[in-house]
Amino acid sequence: MKILHITPEIAPWSKAGGLGDATSALAKNLAALGHEVRVASPLYGSVPGREKMGTLLDSLKVDVGGDPAKAACRVRSLELAPKAQAWFIEHEDYYGAREIYPAREDTAERAAFFGRAALDACLQLGWIPDVIHCHDWTTGLVPVLLNTTLKASPLGRCASVLSIHNLQHQGLLSRRILPFLRLPEWLFKAEELECLGGVNFLKGGILHATRVITVSPTYAQEILTPAFGFGLQDVVQRRQASLDGILNGVDLDEWDAHKDKHLAQTFSAQDLSGKRTCKQDLQKEFKLAQADVPLIGVISRLWDQKGLDLAVQVLPKFLRSDRLQFVLLGSGDSWLEQEYRRLADNFPGRAGVRIGYDHALSHRIEAGCDFFLMPSRFEPCGLNQMYSMAYGTLPIVRATGGLADTVRHWNPSTRQGTGIVFQHTDVGAVDWAIEQALALYARPDDFVSAQKQAMQAEFSWLKSAQAHLVCYGKAIQQH
Ligand code: ADP
Repeated sequence: MKILHITPEIAPWSKAGGLGDATSALAKNLAALGHEVRVASPLYGSVPGREKMGTLLDSLKVDVGGDPAKAACRVRSLELAPKAQAWFIEHEDYYGAREIYPAREDTAERAAFFGRAALDACLQLGWIPDVIHCHDWTTGLVPVLLNTTLKASPLGRCASVLSIHNLQHQGLLSRRILPFLRLPEWLFKAEELECLGGVNFLKGGILHATRVITVSPTYAQEILTPAFGFGLQDVVQRRQASLDGILNGVDLDEWDAHKDKHLAQTFSAQDLSGKRTCKQDLQKEFKLAQADVPLIGVISRLWDQKGLDLAVQVLPKFLRSDRLQFVLLGSGDSWLEQEYRRLADNFPGRAGVRIGYDHALSHRIEAGCDFFLMPSRFEPCGLNQMYSMAYGTLPIVRATGGLADTVRHWNPSTRQGTGIVFQHTDVGAVDWAIEQALALYARPDDFVSAQKQAMQAEFSWLKSAQAHLVCYGKAIQQH
């Protein structure tokens, strides 16, 4: 198959969260299965290594309205793997700044342009994919283009798939985007793209993609309901027959405790001794006491979604009585950053907080902690709980979305389980879950057994890529 991904993020060149990890790992694994893969994404000012990129198209005319001087771009390219190539859409005005999602006047154009540019690149190169796989709201109007403006073009025969990595972010923007993309005005109605007086990018993608994917089976069910649908539950229900939930995986090139170059010492399920060294190393890095108390870690965006406002209310009780140590790496809402900074100030030697983004440190936290906390209100898939399990760090998670699909609650009678799972979004439930974790840590045999089960759980991208191929096959048939 020829498969084109269109995505706002591709790791390691551009990554704001799990989406960047997912697109690059999926592309590499689809290529490893013998398919021809291209991944189109913007060349942001922050993308490293552009001097190593080739030029695929020096001047590509992009069929958009607006200022004619802005309707062209350069397409740079890079080999991701044999048979897999990244295409970077280079356009100084739109993407020259460093941020991936800046707050700007031209957000709609910025999002729409690179999707249309990717399609125009295919037309110009005569490379016509069998499937066009779009990711998240920024690419939501691509399936709409394929069904309308481009229906009679060679791309009209392409099946399209839209992955929803997070339904909360929908791209509700001005209707001026319709003439910009040369989309027909009849699309501006409630049964189509209109939403609260604007155009909803993600709604367009959900309605027009041949098939829709969520990044976990449980999330596919959750978004059919008002509690998780963010107002689009009716739209998702209309597409229920074409909806699949496919879990992301763990990229073993990046997350393998046995050969991770970021760690003080590597380790495996057979020999966990290196993990102790990693814990000591992390304690040192955060100036924590070198003590044998359970160490709980967090790496996260500090947003409402992640439920870390609940955790910050619960943690002082445990820290005060010296029953655990805590480290956090993340950034986001400033009031929550402030709350966590204060936690570290109040408990020196027991809690450490780093506000910011640090790839190498994220590896050391996954390896050095005993538990990893994710009290998310919703979690489309979540990657950190899988990385944690691969590193023998037991996740403490709320039973939602991909967390529910990947972590098995420890059962003391069967001695089976890979973490601690709780149900409710409240302070009491987080408190209960941490108590469970501490009780498990206090039984070393059980704790090590859970660690080994977690490390042996298989979350392979190959399996995920195969499931995607089944979905692509259905999409091609449907189209
Ligand atoms: P989301 O995509 O909602 O942010 P995921 O768990 O799916 O959550 O993916 C988050 C990804 O981003 C993981 O790879 C995680 O390690 C990484 N990450 C998040 N915050 C940071 C940070 N401050 N520093 C380093 N990596 C981070």
